[in-house]
This record gives sequence, C-alpha cells and structure tokens, in this order.
Amino acid sequence: MALSPGGAMNSGAQWRGRALLFDLFGTVVHFAARVPAVQTAGAQWRTAMQWLQEAAEQELPQLRFDELLTALMCVTEEIVRQRPPEYREVPSRERFRRALRQLDVDADRAHATAERLSLAHMAHLASLTVLPEGHLRLLQELAARYPLGLVSNFDHGATARRVLDDHGLSACFRVIVISDDFGQRKPHHAIFEAALRELGVSADETLFIGDSLGEDVSGARNAQLRVAWLNPNGEPVPADGVQPDYVIRCLADLMALVD
Ligand SMILES: [Mg+2]
Repeated sequence: MALSPGGAMNSGAQWRGRALLFDLFGTVVHFAARVPAVQTAGAQWRTAMQWLQEAAEQELPQLRFDELLTALMCVTEEIVRQRPPEYREVPSRERFRRALRQLDVDADRAHATAERLSLAHMAHLASLTVLPEGHLRLLQELAARYPLGLVSNFDHGATARRVLDDHGLSACFRVIVISDDFGQRKPHHAIFEAALRELGVSADETLFIGDSLGEDVSGARNAQLRVAWLNPNGEPVPADGVQPDYVIRCLADLMALVD
C-alpha cells in the first residue's frame, strides 16, 4: 500500500509512466551490519573500522592504526564538506591515498597502499550486503513490465557491480550508473539524466525509488522525475524539505503503486 506524502493511507494514488529507476544501497540491497555514515564519525565509526587494522598493519607496520583512522576521518569529512554544488565523486582509493599522504607516507607508497586498502575495504563492505527476501522476484516482475535502471552513489564502481552480480540482480537492470564511474553523485541532476538518456526515456515518465531524502528524493526532483521515498521506519517527511510524490514502507508496496 502506498502512503501519501503526508503519511495518510492513500490507496488511490497510482503512478502511470514508462520506466523505473532505483537506488542501490538501503533500497535494493541492505547492509547486514549498520555501516555508519561519515557524519556520525567518532567512537562508533572507529569501532566499525577496526576490521581494517590487520590489513593496515601488514601494509604499514610503522604507522599507528589510530592515526590512520583519524586521518581517514578528516579526509572523509573534508570530501563530504566539499561535495556541493557539483557533487564530484572521489574514488575510494583516492580517499585512502589522501589519508596516507597526510601521514607523510611517500607518494609512490601511498598510491600503491591506498589501492590495496581500498580493495580490502570494498571486499569487507560487499560481504556485509544482504538481499532482502522477495526483492529479486519483485524486480524480475517489474523488469518484465518496465525498463529498469539503477543510479547509485558509491565510490568504487566495480564493487557496486559485483554486489549486483553476487545477488543475481544485474540482469534486472538495463542501465546501471554508479557515481564512481560517472564522476558525479546524487543529488546532482546530471547522474539521473545520464541514466534517463541511456534508458531512452524522459524524466516525466520515470519514477525514482530510493531511501535517502537528501540524495534520492532531492536529486530525483532536481532532475524532474517523480519519486517514491522508501521509508521503512515511518519517519515524518520534513515539512520544510523537498516532498516525495509517494512514500512506501517496503519495495513490495511498489506493486500497488504501479498497478
Ligand atoms: Mg540508499
């Protein structure tokens, strides 16, 4: 059942269009363990990054692990601060490289080590992803009726595509646009427009589905798409923010919306 933007039951609200675009993380696949947002930083972030210690100590035995974490946190916060208005994506390996350079690791060493630490980080993140029950079947059913595309913010394109492959999802999507490959992130309109172009559909006949108000809802509206906010916890829609066209509690609610 779709909910209206105000949160009231609104079974009559139907979307009629030609194509569907999906967010990936938190929408199509979830993380088994909570991966903390950069903004939360602090102790929680440090705990979540402890798994990196072994790889880091092998690579750079002279470096104290807590110094690496502090540098990574600073670089990450700076990257987030510098994103607007162009929302350029900074690849994962570049984030590690900048942190290592901050710690005076020489340029060649930083370049090679950053690549390996990034791959270790990505393998860890990929291993945490889970495909919720019913999502594959739902996407297969929708793919039989609409062209589907995927637009994801992720700083390592190969890993995002591997996650799709690992969960058997790749064939559901005619178009897959990852910010690392495209160069810009949601909420910038350009990444949505790239997916629309590749799919051969216009914004006004396409529905975007995503779990983030700041990236998916704002971004899809920036690009003139209709948008369904995936809001599993029933959080209120901020009155002063960009309003989604639809609010759904789970992906299965889409079936009632598009029927
Ligand atoms: Mg998401």
